[in-house]
Amino acid sequence: MRNALGLMLASVGAAVVIAAVWIWASSPSADLAVAATVSAPPTGRLAATASANPIPTTSEEVGVTATIPAQPAGPPQPTAACANPEALGVSRVVEIDTTGGPGFGFAHFKQLDFLTDKEIVLTFDDGPWPVNTPSVLKTLADECTKAVFFPIGKHASYRPEILKQVAAAGHSVGAHTWSHANLNSKKMNEQQARDEIEKGFSAVKLALGAAPSPFFRFPQLQHGPAAMAYLGSRNVAIFSCDVDSFDFKAKDATQIVNSVMAKLEKSGKGIILMHDFQKHTAEALPALLRRLKAGGYKVVQMKAKAPLQTLAEYDEGLVKDMKLPAVGTRPVGSVVQTVTK
Ligand SMILES: [Zn+2]
Repeated sequence: MRNALGLMLASVGAAVVIAAVWIWASSPSADLAVAATVSAPPTGRLAATASANPIPTTSEEVGVTATIPAQPAGPPQPTAACANPEALGVSRVVEIDTTGGPGFGFAHFKQLDFLTDKEIVLTFDDGPWPVNTPSVLKTLADECTKAVFFPIGKHASYRPEILKQVAAAGHSVGAHTWSHANLNSKKMNEQQARDEIEKGFSAVKLALGAAPSPFFRFPQLQHGPAAMAYLGSRNVAIFSCDVDSFDFKAKDATQIVNSVMAKLEKSGKGIILMHDFQKHTAEALPALLRRLKAGGYKVVQMKAKAPLQTLAEYDEGLVKDMKLPAVGTRPVGSVVQTVTK
């Protein structure tokens, strides 16, 4: 009798456990937890832990991410506290898998609609440049926000120390060709376009001392079909834009602020194209970021899932080119001697 009662209680207990697991696994919050691991930064790191874990089912992966919410798996991330309570900040960090060369920015690519209403991405082209790029960096730091930079290879070779500051501040750094050539021009053959792309990335790598993000923007947004196919084969994401500031044509900073805000009101969201190379842009940025904050816009930070593997031949070619102007490596004292005074 006692055995029969014990067996019955055990069966009821088992049924309760099975039912509880079924209700939990099929609840909508389990799906939400999966989505959250894709988009938010701390859980993004946890998602990597979960996928590296041999546990096979989705619900159990959710269990892993749900039970250890506050323990980062990777190396400690810089979590500099924002000193400005009114800062624009970063509302969401997205990691981009650049396999196959996805395109972003509705001006040219409409497949990947990942921004929700009022979400924006700040992007800056044509740097690094003295005064203007450091000024843009200061404004972004004051507002505790992040951007994507598309430097010109030549400019990176002139001012590597400024580009290093861009990367050190935590911004994503892609590339924008070696010499800002139009890759859609009839004068440009396929090999020349590849050289512009690869040399640009290698120059950024040489300046940073680290691999760039596989993010590319075509000069003048001139998307050459062969170059696009090539970028796809190199697993480099292509960035167009949703809002083109045309800041290089603006007569002053105010015009840039007003034009960007007006265009954003129409599009409601999107990738904003600006130039850290431009003086008026650097001057406009403090007011623009305050207007964006006041308007309820939220910055999404785009990060690459993995860095670009640059090609050794271009890395080496660039180092050789850069050494050409120097006739020798002897110190000045051994070349020039004062003999009379
Ligand atoms: Zn440009």
